[in-house]
Amino acid sequence: MKALNTANLEQLRHRLLELQTEIGERLSNSSEASKIVTLDQTTVGRISRMDAMQQQNMAVSTRGKTKLRYQKVQAALRAMAANEYGYCRSCDESIPLRRLLAQPEATLCIRCQDNADRQQ
Ligand SMILES: [Zn+2]
Repeated sequence: MKALNTANLEQLRHRLLELQTEIGERLSNSSEASKIVTLDQTTVGRISRMDAMQQQNMAVSTRGKTKLRYQKVQAALRAMAANEYGYCRSCDESIPLRRLLAQPEATLCIRCQDNADRQQ
């Protein structure tokens, strides 16, 4: 498998930095959204309170996933700085450029990702 060239790496680094900003903003927005769910007991009925709580739970779980992705993006940037970017964490093969362009924070090759997904 061909290693990534400098132009590829530069493109991917740019994409990762974009993702970092984008996800970072989403995280700070959602932290405000989960704060707002402290409810006014006098105007909100029991049903809509439960609705709001459900929505809050969903927001928390989405936030967890977003946070995880943010950590992966940061880990990818660290790996890039250490010249270790683009290799599968599991089998050490280089991850194809096409996959990295679609998902620059990927840490597994498609085969290992498939295996990991199947074990879940
Ligand atoms: Zn692999």
